[in-house]
Amino acid sequence: MKSIPRREFLQSAAAAVLPLPVSPAPAKSILETARAAEKLSDFDVVDVHAHIAETPPDAIWPQGPLALLEDMDRCGVKQAVFSHLGAILSTEDSEYLAGIEATAQAVRAHPARFRGYLVFHPHLFEASRRQLPRLLEPDSPFVGFKLHGAFHQYPADGPKYRPVYEFAHEHRLPVLFHVAGTGRDWSHSIGAIVDEFSRMNLILAHMGPGEEALPELMKGRPNLFLDTCLSTGRHRLIERLAAKLGPEKLLFASDATFDSLTAQVAKIAFTDLPESDKKLILGGNARRLFRLP
Ligand SMILES: [Zn+2]
Repeated sequence: MKSIPRREFLQSAAAAVLPLPVSPAPAKSILETARAAEKLSDFDVVDVHAHIAETPPDAIWPQGPLALLEDMDRCGVKQAVFSHLGAILSTEDSEYLAGIEATAQAVRAHPARFRGYLVFHPHLFEASRRQLPRLLEPDSPFVGFKLHGAFHQYPADGPKYRPVYEFAHEHRLPVLFHVAGTGRDWSHSIGAIVDEFSRMNLILAHMGPGEEALPELMKGRPNLFLDTCLSTGRHRLIERLAAKLGPEKLLFASDATFDSLTAQVAKIAFTDLPESDKKLILGGNARRLFRLP
């Protein structure tokens, strides 16, 4: 019989007993990866608040889908849910519909990277309402609604938003909402809306009504969430919100290509939070809420 060295024997015996890890843990933490100026591609990063827009090929500020992808690739963001600025800013049906079609087209061109919001425009009410069933089409490029009450100057409790709330409630869909006015004005109405439409998952854009009002507004409301994009942020804001509200309430968001994607990624990567909290904020919560495979 051929003898084998003792060390080799022990190694082969250990290999036979120990199961191979299914997916090896990343060599570096999120913080270490960011500190090394490397992209976060070992982690599941999903941006729930992005935008595209039509821009000429030689624009100094490109905002098309390829510009968004380029930033996502640079930072290691796997997927983004975006809305079309053209649909938000539109003043007539044809512009609105062009923005909706461009959203669908961009998702179809990059199905592994993008999902779309269906913008609901309260001043183009009939055109918007006719689009609602698109969320239910098989393989729909749309996974939720985007409401921009701030730009449209339309209150959260206005009657033209009710068809969206009813639809989202009926089909358990997410709604990303940039609410009009200051938090003091609308905290109460948002609370009443999420209570009435309890199966709609409402994400308040830009950290919602402000830090002070949040604990009371969010308490006991499992269908209310916050996105993390804000062009400014007070000292240790993310850490405080995670402690007060729970990390499962926060969803990573950038507002790119309108705002900087890089700054918003860094804002989460460098927080003083446990790795498990960062993973929820950066992607885990979004996967669950948007039912992204
Ligand atoms: Zn935005």
